[in-house]
Amino acid sequence: MVSHSDLGPVIVTGGSRGIGAATVRALVAAGRPVVFSYASNTAAADALCAELGGHVRALCADVTDPATPARLFDLCQAAFGPATGLFANAGITGPASKITDLSLADLTRVIDTNLIGSFLTVQEGARRMGTGSAMVLMSSRAAELGGGGEWVHYAASKGAINAMTKGLARELGPKGIRVNAVAPGLIDTEIHAAAGLGDRLVQKRGEVPLARIGTADEVADTVVWLLSARASYVTGTIVDIAGGR
Ligand code: NAP
Repeated sequence: MVSHSDLGPVIVTGGSRGIGAATVRALVAAGRPVVFSYASNTAAADALCAELGGHVRALCADVTDPATPARLFDLCQAAFGPATGLFANAGITGPASKITDLSLADLTRVIDTNLIGSFLTVQEGARRMGTGSAMVLMSSRAAELGGGGEWVHYAASKGAINAMTKGLARELGPKGIRVNAVAPGLIDTEIHAAAGLGDRLVQKRGEVPLARIGTADEVADTVVWLLSARASYVTGTIVDIAGGR
């Protein structure tokens, strides 16, 4: 019987809002303490900490800062012990844009946040985590659908996440660390309005075979499962959570 750290602490990047916040709540409900990071929205982070009490710690720390991952793991160690779960969730779309109009600054910001930020996060995880631990990376259905007309830059960053997930599963499997990703479809969070597409979920709903938009809680449930011992033989997998789209 392989030993798995089912109730150990978890680090979540981008845990103050949206899918990250739903996952923090679901992890605490499953008995796991959480350290989460966020970029700037202190009010949202403070509200989540107040809601969940001593089971969580928050750190305002940008994922693109190379010092952030070590700070997160150190905080987790001090507050709850060594992290046994990691959810590299923080991400942005950048402004919705055709490729001809996208600025280099916006392209760089998306790649820095989604690809470099996730890479630095899981790199520290690979250094610090041990047998029985698990990581989940945040992909998107955009990685396969391509984001044409909206955000090819964002889709490209998530395609890189899929490649990282498969490679890291092979590299870290012998160390007893599982690595998977989730690929949500249309999920009701503030990310669409932030891209300047406030009506995107209404416009795209007809593309979904299950005929509805997904919730952050539905993504969170899958992440909690992937990080738990119930997924003990699952690694290198990208789980679509997209209502069939
Ligand atoms: P959201 O509601 O906009 O929340 C984003 C979270 O990430 C916030 O906590 C934000 O912190 C944090 N964040 C953003 N940039 C950061 C940075 N540089 N450093 C640290 N934290 C940062 O977004 P969401 O919809 O939950 O998306 C979360 C992830 O799911 C993203 O990777 C996104 O690409 C992916 N995803 C979302 C959907 C969807 O339909 N919603 C579909 C597929 C994939 P602040 O609160 O401080 O801003």
